[in-house]
Amino acid sequence: MCTAGVGYFTKILYRELSIVAIFAKDNRTQSCDKNIATYRMKKTILSLGILLSASVCSASIPVSSPDGKLKVVTDIVSGKPIYSVIYNGNTMIENSPLGLRTDVGDFSTGMSMVDSKTSTVSKSFDQDKIKKSHIDYNANSLVTTMKNGAGQEISVEWLVSDNDIAFRYNIPRQGDTGAMVVESEATGFRFPAETKVFLTSQSDAMIGWKRTKPSYEEFYITDAPLDSVSKFGHGFTFPGLFRIGDKGWVLLSETGVDGYYCASHLSDNVDGVFSIAYAMPEENNGNGSAAPGISLPKSTPWRTITVADNLSPIVETTIPWNVVEPRYETSRPGRPGKGTWSWIVWQDNSMNMADQKTFIDLAADLGYDNILIDAGWDQNIGYDRMPELLGYAREKGIRPILWYSSSGHWNDIVQSPIDKMDRPIVRKKEMKWLRDNGVECIKVDFFGGDKQETMRLYEDILSDAADYGIDVIFHGCTLPRGWERMYPNHVGSEAVFASENLIFEQIFCDMEAFHATLHPFIRNSVALMEYGGTIFNRRMSRDNNSGNTRRTGDVFQLATSVLFQNPVQNFGLTPNNLTETAPDAISFMKEVPTTWDDTKLIEGYPGRYVVLARRHGDKWYIAGVNALKEPLKLKLDLSALGLKTGSAVFYADEKGKEVKAKTMKIKKDSSVPVEILPDGGVVIVAE
Ligand code: CA
Repeated sequence: MCTAGVGYFTKILYRELSIVAIFAKDNRTQSCDKNIATYRMKKTILSLGILLSASVCSASIPVSSPDGKLKVVTDIVSGKPIYSVIYNGNTMIENSPLGLRTDVGDFSTGMSMVDSKTSTVSKSFDQDKIKKSHIDYNANSLVTTMKNGAGQEISVEWLVSDNDIAFRYNIPRQGDTGAMVVESEATGFRFPAETKVFLTSQSDAMIGWKRTKPSYEEFYITDAPLDSVSKFGHGFTFPGLFRIGDKGWVLLSETGVDGYYCASHLSDNVDGVFSIAYAMPEENNGNGSAAPGISLPKSTPWRTITVADNLSPIVETTIPWNVVEPRYETSRPGRPGKGTWSWIVWQDNSMNMADQKTFIDLAADLGYDNILIDAGWDQNIGYDRMPELLGYAREKGIRPILWYSSSGHWNDIVQSPIDKMDRPIVRKKEMKWLRDNGVECIKVDFFGGDKQETMRLYEDILSDAADYGIDVIFHGCTLPRGWERMYPNHVGSEAVFASENLIFEQIFCDMEAFHATLHPFIRNSVALMEYGGTIFNRRMSRDNNSGNTRRTGDVFQLATSVLFQNPVQNFGLTPNNLTETAPDAISFMKEVPTTWDDTKLIEGYPGRYVVLARRHGDKWYIAGVNALKEPLKLKLDLSALGLKTGSAVFYADEKGKEVKAKTMKIKKDSSVPVEILPDGGVVIVAE
C-alpha cells in the first residue's frame, strides 16, 4: 500500500546509515566519536521505527474540512499519485488516480513527493444571478508538490470546505519549456461498489439537428448501476450525481473553465474508474485541437466534489462560484428579469412584426421586463425595420433580447442571423449596431462543443458584449462552469432538455415531471439554467388545440418558475393565457421573482419528487412537484426557513379545478401537510 513511502524512508535510512558508517569508519579509534556514531545509529533506528509504525507512509497526506467531517487523503503508490475521499468515516471515493500526461512530461507515473503545504482560505462575497446572494467560504488548503523521474514538478492544490472539495493541478514552467499540450489526464473517480449513478451521456459530435451536438441535451439514467454504459460510448457530461449506498451523495463537476482550457466530461466507467475526458476530436467539425494547449505556469480548471450524507448540501452547494473570481468589470451588473417570447409556442411563423408587437404587449400586460425576439428576425422583419420594432418595445418599457446563431463553420444552421458572432471584426460591428439600437441582451445559439477553441469563443463573445454594455444568454451550448461569477454579463445558459422539447415531441411532455425532479439536484445545482418554461397551454401550439399534450398541472407550471433557477426567465406564456388561464396563476407569474437570496432543499429524491424553498427578500417561495404515479402526501418541515408569521399563500393542483390562491395557517412547529398529485405541483409563499 505504501511502497513510495517505504522507498522514501529507505532513502532516509540509507543516508543516515551512510553517515553513521562514515562516522564509524573515520573514527574507529576515537571513542568519543564512536559514541556519536552509536547515538546517531540508535536515533535513526528509533526514527525509522516511529515513521514506519506511526505514519505508515510519508506520502499519505490528509486534509480535512473545517468541521472535520470531510477528509481527502492523498498518497503516492508505486509512483502513481492517488487520493481518496472520506465523509463521516465512510469512504465515498476510493483510491483514485491523479496526474497529467503532457507533451513535456508524464506526471501520472514514476512520481515521488517533494513537499506539501497547508493553509486556510476564507472569503465572503455577494453574488447575484445564482441560488444565494451572499456566500461565506471557509476551506482548508493542501498543496502537494510531486516530481516525475525526470525531476519535472507539478502540484495538486486541494480546497476542502464542509461539504465541498475543489482540486486542480498547478504546473510550473519546466526549465526552458513554457508551452505545453496536456494530452490526457489520469484524474479519476472510483466509487464504492454499492454506488448508484444519476448521469446524462455525452453526445456524439456533429449529429442531431443541423449537426449541432453535443449540446448537453440528452436523457438521464437514474439510480442506475455503477457499471452503466453511456449511450454514445463517450461517457457522461458534468455534473454527475452518485448515491453511495445509504452513506450519502457525491456530485461531480468542474468550474473555472475559460479560453485557456477545454471543458471536460467523465469517461465511461473503465475498471471501476470514471476519468476526466477531454472534448472529442470530431467536435467543432474537427477544427481545433481536442487536447488543451497552455502556457506555463498555468493551473487547470477546478474539479469539484460535493459530498454529504443527505441531499441538502448537493442542492445548496455554491462551490462552482467559491473558487473563481470575476474576470472583468462591466458598466452595470447583468440584468435579471422576466420576459415573453413568441417562438416557444407560436414557433417560426411568429417571427413577424405583428406577432412580435403582440408579445411585447403581452410582456407589458404582465409587467415583465423583456421580449426575446428569436431566430429569423433579420430575414422576416429585416435590419431596416428593426428600429421600428425595437422602438415599439422601448415605448412599452420592454427590453428586447435578440437571437443569434454562433456559427460559424461548426454546423449546418440556417436559422439567422448567422456569421455575426464567430469572429471579432463582424462581432464588434454587430455589437455596435445592437448598442446603437438600444439592445442590451442577446441570446447566442448552436455552439460547436467543448474544445478549448469553443471555450475561447464563449469568452470572446462575453468579453466583446461587455464592452458594448450587452448581456449574454447561451443556448445549444455547454454547461457554464463558474461563468455566473467569472463573467458579470453572463445571464443564462441552456445545456438541458429545455421547454422547446415539449413542443417537439410528446415524450418530453410525458417526462416533464421526471425531468423537473432531477434538475434541482443535478444540472441546476452547479449552474444557472435557462429553461424557458411555464407553459399554460394544454396543447403545445398556437391554437391550443393541436400538437403535443401537456400532462402536468398548472400549479406544476408555477412551481417550475421557482424550481428552475436563472436570473433571466423567458416564460412560455401566450396571449390567450390572459383570458383562458386562472387569474390567480397569472397573478403569481406577474409576481414571482427571478433572483434569490437563499435556497434550501425541504425534501425530495431525484427522479421522484422535490420540494425546494427559495427566498427573495423576506419572502420564501416553496415549490414542490411530483413525478411519481401516486399522489404524494408529505408533512413538510419548514422550520429551517425561520418563518416570521403564521400565515401563507398556498397553491396546489387539484383534479379538475383551476388554480386558486388559498391562505393557510402555518403551525408553531412549522410543519405543513401537503398532497401533491402525480404530474402536479404545490407552491407556498410565506414570510
Ligand atoms: Ca436547445
